[in-house]
Amino acid sequence: MSRTHHHHVAIVGAGPVGIEIAAAMKREGIDYVHFDAGQIGQTIYQFTPQTRFFSSNERIAIAGVPLQTCDQSKSTREQYLAYLRSVVQQFDLQVRTYERLESIRRLDDGSFLLDTNGIRGPAQWHVQKLVLATGGTAGPRKLGIPGEDQENVHHRFDDPHVYFRTRVLIVGGKNSAIEAALRCYHAGANVSMSYRRAEFDPKHIKYWLYPEITGLAKAGRIDIHYNTQMTSIDGTAVTLRDVVTGEESTVHTDFVLVLIGYRADMSLARMAGVELKTEFEVPTINQETMETNVPGVYIAGTAIAGTQDQFRVFIENCHVHSERIVASILGRNPARVQQTEYLRPES
Ligand SMILES: Cc1cc2nc3c(=O)[nH]c(=O)nc-3n(C[C@H](O)[C@H](O)[C@H](O)COP(=O)(O)OP(=O)(O)OC[C@H]3O[C@@H](n4cnc5c(N)ncnc54)[C@H](O)[C@@H]3O)c2cc1C
Repeated sequence: MSRTHHHHVAIVGAGPVGIEIAAAMKREGIDYVHFDAGQIGQTIYQFTPQTRFFSSNERIAIAGVPLQTCDQSKSTREQYLAYLRSVVQQFDLQVRTYERLESIRRLDDGSFLLDTNGIRGPAQWHVQKLVLATGGTAGPRKLGIPGEDQENVHHRFDDPHVYFRTRVLIVGGKNSAIEAALRCYHAGANVSMSYRRAEFDPKHIKYWLYPEITGLAKAGRIDIHYNTQMTSIDGTAVTLRDVVTGEESTVHTDFVLVLIGYRADMSLARMAGVELKTEFEVPTINQETMETNVPGVYIAGTAIAGTQDQFRVFIENCHVHSERIVASILGRNPARVQQTEYLRPES
């Protein structure tokens, strides 16, 4: 193991919120080191190609840098990744990409010893403050049913091309599942869906997707098994149980795409001693400063909500985190921190 590197702050995670925090710290001359286990914007990189953000561009713009798209429509994954690269270049932010924070030890004086590992090998860091901006979508939620780990069962929707001229059963009934169903259908797949409720809820679906999915269902182009729960997968035979009658039926499909949401990985927060509440592992945070119950450990971005059953914490309501954390680290009065001017007020 090489020597220990010393910095005042470590930022973990270079998603939009981690990058915004790094820009704010750089502006203030705070000595920090910044890690991401993957590339910058790793979570967004993992979206399906050409996925369009639901949030409007001005709400997902960070660090005061406007986000423009050629046709003024909402940003795609590709446009937003290019934008994040520009922001990092604009502020000349140094992100240690492909370097995962693996362990956190709190020393008697309240500082932290961190171990990272990645493409440059293991390293050790000593910091006074730790900011965890590790997001809320570390991995897919699973059903925990027999056959779920078969090769033809996917938990991420990588590209509709995969499903061309195959039968695909999509499990779920919110944005991810419906977007995947429409894209697979238009890409030439034979699509069916299983959803545990009696109908789709337009409140939880992007407004431009709802009319299309309900229209295609009515026309019989996409077969939707409402009120069903998948109970097992055996090769290409899937068992669905009717949640009302309890009756079981078999659907034959080449692929199963389980898109029922994401879970956060709160293991770093737990390792640091942060109190996590409820089954969703919501960290205990002082909302004025974003500092947790462990002095010197801050949590920012969507990680503040742990695993989100219903998405309520988005990029747009996390912008203020960077300013609260910087104010706290610099010993400024957090009550004076306002939402930055470039953000429109919440509607
Ligand atoms: C399909 C889809 C569509 C979405 N649409 C929207 C939308 O329209 N609007 C919106 O606001 N949000 C949307 N989201 C949610 C969006 O992804 C998040 O709001 C956003 O990425 C959160 O930013 P963040 O910086 O908090 O975390 P993330 O972007 O998740 O960044 C966390 C970073 O932490 C890194 N990391 C994790 N653990 C470690 C570790 N141990 N060491 C080092 N690095 C680590 C990860 O690699 C990652 O880069 C969408 C999500 C999905 C899946």
